[in-house]
Parts: sequence; structure tokens; C-alpha cells
Amino acid sequence: AEQFGMKEALGLLGIKEVNQGTSTGNQWFSNGEKIDSYSPVDGQLIASVTATTREDYEQVMQAATEAFKTFRLMPAPKRGEIVRQFGEKLRQYKEPLGKLVSYEMGKSYQEGLGEVQEMIDICDFAVGLSRQLNGSTLHSERFGHRMYDQYHPLGVVGIISAFNFPVAVWSWNTALAWICGDVCVWKPSEKTPLCGIACQNIIAEVLKENNLPEGISCLINGDYKVGEFMTQDKRVPLVSATGSTRMGKIVAQEVAGRLGRSLLELGGNNAIIVTPDADIKMTVIGAVFGAVGTAGQRCTSTRRLIIHESIYDKVKDAVVSAYGQLRIGNPLDQNNHVGPLIDKHAVEMYNNALEKVVAEGGTVLVEGGVLSGDGFESGCYVKPAIAEAKNEFEIVQHETFAPVLYLLKYSGDVENAIDIQNGVAQGLSSAIMTNNLREAEKFLSHAGSDCGIANVNIGTSGAEIGGAFGGEKETGGGRESGSDAWKVYMRRQTNTINYTTDLPLAQGIKFDL
Ligand code: NAD
Repeated sequence: AEQFGMKEALGLLGIKEVNQGTSTGNQWFSNGEKIDSYSPVDGQLIASVTATTREDYEQVMQAATEAFKTFRLMPAPKRGEIVRQFGEKLRQYKEPLGKLVSYEMGKSYQEGLGEVQEMIDICDFAVGLSRQLNGSTLHSERFGHRMYDQYHPLGVVGIISAFNFPVAVWSWNTALAWICGDVCVWKPSEKTPLCGIACQNIIAEVLKENNLPEGISCLINGDYKVGEFMTQDKRVPLVSATGSTRMGKIVAQEVAGRLGRSLLELGGNNAIIVTPDADIKMTVIGAVFGAVGTAGQRCTSTRRLIIHESIYDKVKDAVVSAYGQLRIGNPLDQNNHVGPLIDKHAVEMYNNALEKVVAEGGTVLVEGGVLSGDGFESGCYVKPAIAEAKNEFEIVQHETFAPVLYLLKYSGDVENAIDIQNGVAQGLSSAIMTNNLREAEKFLSHAGSDCGIANVNIGTSGAEIGGAFGGEKETGGGRESGSDAWKVYMRRQTNTINYTTDLPLAQGIKFDL
């Protein structure tokens, strides 16, 4: 990794050999065990982070609840100015941070930079939004009365994030939460703790330059047990959790048990429907990027291609031949298309899926396998694979977080393809490739795709920050990022003001004294 300037990047980001994993802003402390972060790129130890203990967490919560009391009073556009400065800092640190994302998580350097760009974009979006946190004015049924609703800051927002977007998910939440007047406590994935340290160092500079108190941006580190500090804590009114459906089911119940609010961004099982008159060239680009980009470790990765029987062979041949051109290797080397999986456990899940699809009656079209030898020492590099399968296979119903693509055939009308597309437990991203207006509109209609994201002539993978991001069913129902997703970070209040000298009651009720 040294030839790619990793050491310099780590230095710029303030990453030491051993880092304290708990922070309230500019203050760092931590008394838990050491978490070692190994790179899936070359298997090397990058650095370590000390985990957060219960006592450390208490110190964080004290700072956060105290900071909220003053931060909520700062006018929203002034908070927007802080987020604007944060966006500027991110522009400054884009290259080293993009590199660290690539090295610690394993996605390509281009995608690492893309992730930081998303952070910059959400900051820009939030800055504008800080002047638009609007409620509505409503007409009262009573004479001389005014009624309106307004949004107030919520409090401490807990953020639990997954390894595959180790920096962007945090900013999707914080940029909005901060302009809304909330303070944040973030627990990054224990698989990518250094990305968390780097981000906290960047925001800490902004907070210091503006003389803001400790507690507005807090970091805690550790595994699920540290996440539980927040899910079980009444002082955290909103927990935003990104990760597996398995995790989401536990978090949802914990938070609901104390009647808190949770925002869940969980697994997907995304499909592209390929109709008889689809543009084959566009389909191949969308499908291949969707299936192998980030080595299949995006929540929006394409898992299933649902192809009409009339063009099945043509699409199959084109996709299989495109796989022949994929270059697998060090993701910091921009000649490569596919980097490693996050760790050996992920490799096991990948192997297991390939075995299972064959056992259930599927046919492998592009052989998988784990790469070894020069450049593959980490043991995390796998070959993207394709199998012909049936939607009802248990393994197809399941999200395998690796580059395994299933080809499914449909016949007859587009409704049949939509049934297959919707016939899974998850509901994140979906797409149709078609030049037929009726098919496209059916796919987007009330009876069409049941996903949070439905695209026409675009793949399933990735999304712009301007739209609300998230999915239905076992994806958890949460929405982050653009549109009116900000509302979840605030509490709504309805206000009625009487400017007369009478006190009329609602619904015409008389109460004479
Ligand atoms: P994971 O569920 O293993 O872990 C995610 C985070 O949850 C980690 O920080 C982990 O420590 C924490 N956690 C786990 N159990 C917890 C508990 N009981 N209480 C509190 N915290 C707990 O997921 P992962 O392997 O890091 O990420 C991959 C998964 O994330 C995939 O399923 C992917 O689809 C999903 N994902 C979804 C989105 C989305 O926006 N919908 C985005 C990225 C990733």
C-alpha cells in the first residue's frame, strides 16, 4: 500500500499506531480493549483503536446532553454555516480520506473518493436546508385563531453504521441532524474504526475553529455491545442504524421497548428487470457495475437479473462475456475493477452461497473462487460469479454480501417479472430496463415495484443524495439524505394562538361559567 501513499494519508488524517476510540469533539479518551484494524487489501495491520467502556460512554452522554442545551438555541442557518465549513474541510481532506476508505474497507480508490464526494454533497444540501426547515400554516376552525406546526430539535441522535459505507452514512445523518439542532453520537462498524477516527478529527477542527463546546460530535467504538449502550438509553430519542436485517430486528425492538424512534437502513435484494426491448448495452453496464462494484458489498448491489425469455440467451451471453474482462486486484490500483471482500468471514459467506445455489439446483455460468498468490495475500479476493437460479431458492431469497449474481427467467407480461422482483423479503432498490412506456409506468405504479427506490433505465446500485434513500419491508422503512428525510431528526409541534378576548372551544363545545 505504501506505493499508493497510504502512510502520508494516515498522517494527514491524524491516525496514530494506537488511537483512543472515544471522543466528545476535541477531547479523546478510552479505557476499553484494543480493536486492531487489518486491511483487506494486503492483510496488514493498519492501526488500532481502543474501545469505549460504559464509563467512557457516560462521559460522552454527559457532554452530549449538555451541548444540546446550547446547540439547539443556535439559529439553524448558523448551524448550517458550521456544516458549510465541514464541507470545505472535506474538500481539503478528500484524497487522504478517500484513500483510507479504500484501504480499510477495500473498495476502489475511485469509489472511496466518490464516498467523500457524497459527504460533501450532503453538506451542501444541508446548508441550503438550514434555511428551509418549514412547517405549515393551517386554517383554524375558530374565529380569531391562528394555527401552525413547527419542527424543533430532538436531542441526542445515535448513529450506528455498517462497514461498507464507513464514512458517508455518518455524514448523511450528521449533516442533517446538526442543522436540525441535534447533537450526534456515532458508533462506526468495528470493521472500519479508523475511518471513524479520521472523520472525527476533521469535524473537530471545525468545532474548535468556531469555539463550539464538546459534545456536538461524539465518537464511540466497539462491537454490538457498545451499540447497545445507545439502543437501551432513554437519553437517545433517535437511533439511526445501518446494517444487516438481523441487526435491525434487534435494534428496532430494543428502541421500541423504550418507545424511542429508530431509523433503519438494512439489507437489500435488488433486481433489474430486463424486458424484451431493453437496450442490451445499457443493461450490461448497469448489471455488471451493480453486481461487481464494491465487490458486491453495497446495500444497493444488483443480486438478481430477471430476464424475459425472448432475450434471455442474448443478455446472458453479453453479461458472461463482460465478466471475462474484469480485473481483480488491489483497489488502490485504478486499473482494477474489483477489490477484496471485507474479511475472511465474508469469503466464507460467498463460498457458502455458491455451494448452496448448486445444491438447490442452480447452474454456475461464471465460476467463482478465492484468489491466492502474489497480491492476494489477504485471502479476501474472490472472483465475481454468476449462476442461473430460481427466485424461490432459499439462497436467492437471502442477501449474500458478495459478488454473486443470479439470472432468473420470466415469460409473458411484465407483471410476471414484477411479481418475481417483489417476491423477496427485502425492498431496497429495483430497476427496469425498457423502452416501452407501458411497462415502465406499470413498474412505477401502485401495483409495481414495492421498493424504496425504483429506477427506469438505470441500474440498482448507488443513488443521488437529493432523493430520500431507504427501503421497505425487511430493509427497515427508514429514509435518509434528501427530500424531506430531515423531519425524522426533529420533533413536530402544533401551535394554536388565540388573538381574541373570547375562549371558544373546538368542535363547537359550550362550557359556560
Ligand atoms: P452488521 O449488521 O453486521 O453491523 C452494522 C452495525 O451494527 C455495526 O456497527 C455493528 O457493530 C452494529 N450492531 C450489530 N448488532 C447490534 C446490536 N444488537 N445493537 C447495536 N448495534 C449493533 O452489518 P455490516 O456487515 O457492517 O454491513 C452490511 C449490511 O449492511 C448489509 O446487510 C447491507 O445491505 C447493509 N447496509 C444497508 C444500507 C442501507 O442504507 N439500507 C447501507 C449500507 C449497508
